[in-house]
Amino acid sequence: MENRVTGGCACGAIRYTTAEKPEFSIICQCRQCQRITGAGHAASFAALANVTELTGNVTYYAQKSDSGNSVQCGFCGTCGSPILKKTSGMPQFIFFHAATLDDPSLFKPEMVVYSDTAQPWDHVDPAIERR
Ligand SMILES: [Zn+2]
Ligand SMILES: [Zn+2]
Repeated sequence: MENRVTGGCACGAIRYTTAEKPEFSIICQCRQCQRITGAGHAASFAALANVTELTGNVTYYAQKSDSGNSVQCGFCGTCGSPILKKTSGMPQFIFFHAATLDDPSLFKPEMVVYSDTAQPWDHVDPAIERR
């Protein structure tokens, strides 16, 4: 990905700019990501929180992850788009959903996590490392 990426929700009320190169990119097939996206997995990238600019009103829904961390799922209260996740396990990062990028083709998934709860109809490139 480029050093600086921009994105936002469907209605444009929420916008973000990551000031530095995203740290890593994942595809998550956990049940929570399936529910919040309505799809087989969430595709997201980690950006350093302290240098990320976020504008607009993010609504948060708090969950516990399977590993016991508290997770904040951020979405737009107007259009309902899932925008980001924050986890107490890695508080230095904001995880942005990849399709919220202005140019989603920049996203390059590096690993697949929680593949044990993958759905049989959710086909992800088998060449991507599973963790
Ligand atoms: Zn919106
Ligand atoms: Zn997940």
